[in-house]
Formats: sequence, C-alpha cells, structure tokens
Amino acid sequence: MRMGKVGYAQCVEEYVTAANVETRKDCRLFLVYIPRSKSVRKVPHLLMLSTKKMKEMEKIDGSTIVKEQKWNLETYTEDDAKQLGDYKIPWILFRDGYENGRRLYDKFNGRTCHQCRQKTLGLRTQCSRCKGSTGMLCGDCLYIRYGENIIEANENGKSWICPVCRGICNCSKCRNKKGLPPIPCIYSKALRNGYKSVAHYLIKTHIVSISGEGETTKKV
Ligand SMILES: [Zn+2]
Ligand SMILES: [Zn+2]
Ligand SMILES: [Zn+2]
Repeated sequence: MRMGKVGYAQCVEEYVTAANVETRKDCRLFLVYIPRSKSVRKVPHLLMLSTKKMKEMEKIDGSTIVKEQKWNLETYTEDDAKQLGDYKIPWILFRDGYENGRRLYDKFNGRTCHQCRQKTLGLRTQCSRCKGSTGMLCGDCLYIRYGENIIEANENGKSWICPVCRGICNCSKCRNKKGLPPIPCIYSKALRNGYKSVAHYLIKTHIVSISGEGETTKKV
C-alpha cells in the first residue's frame, strides 16, 4: 500500500467517497474525544464540524478535546488488487452463529472475529501464515468485507492467508495503523456499484498506478 500525508480537504473527500457521508464546504472532519461521564476512557467520535461549531464545543465542555485529524490518502496498487479473493458459491449471511435471528455470543466457546470483534459461535477462518487470532474471521465478515466464502477458505486450509497477512484488512484497527479513517460498513454501496465486497470496492476504486518518474495517476 502506498501512502502519503495529505491535507484535510483531500482526506474529507476520500472519506466522504468511501463512507457516503454528507459534507459541507464550511465543514472539516474532526476527531472529537468526549470523555464518558464515569470513565476516564476517551471515546473518539468522527464528526463533520464547522470551525465555529468546533470552537463552541471547546467552550461548553473544557474536557472535550477536539483534534483535527489528518488521514493518509487511501490508495492501493495493482498488487493490492491481486490480493483480493473470490467465492464459487455465495455464502448465506446471518445464519451461521445465529439462532432465531440472534447472534450466539459465548464467552467460553466463542472465538473473536478479527473484523467485527464479536466472540460468538460459528465458523472461523484460520490463517496458514500467522496461525493466530488475527486470521480468525467469521463467515459474514469474510463475505461482506472480502467477498470470500468461509467454507471454501477452510477447504483450502493449508493455503488460505488472512486479509491482515495479505495487507488488505479493512478493520478499524488495521486502518488506524495505516493512518486511515475507520470505515463504516459500505457493503450495500459496494454491491450497488458492482463490487462483491467492501474490500473490492475500496481497493478497485482507489488504485493508483505509478507512471514514469514517480508520478502517480489515479485510475478511474
Ligand atoms: Zn466478524
Ligand atoms: Zn494471517
Ligand atoms: Zn484488521
């Protein structure tokens, strides 16, 4: 993945494109830390605010920290696109690890999915490279986020490599490490635009090819 620091305008544009967030010319994207009343833990909120509104917020609550967030530019290469997976048979969503339409949470027998961070029952992938919890994804996340069928991934047990090891994980933690904003689930948007998963949409719409003397051009 290629990245470079960019200003807020470009980041907002990228974020808005990816997340389908409405933006206004006089607004900028801020990461706002609002301390919970009884907890010291600060919860970051991603908010679109005008500079005026931001100043007001600082005045109202002295403990609210407002920080302008500079994200890295979301760009991928053809090599990243090669890391995208596929499925032969579609996976049926919201069935595995569910009972009567509810997810089966289990503190003891559940295994945490790297993507949705839920400790539930149901199938999990296993990465042949990292072999750990990083490579454990639930079937729904694997399908929605990466366009792969968990049964097929597990059949290829010895060769399947997780999205983190492939460098294309789009979970909030991995994106944060790359300096990218968290991405809400844009699965329906991806489908509407003809992409089979969030990863396919994100990568294929942000491919940058390197031409000549280090110049970058964005493919549409
Ligand atoms: Zn999951
Ligand atoms: Zn892995
Ligand atoms: Zn991740």
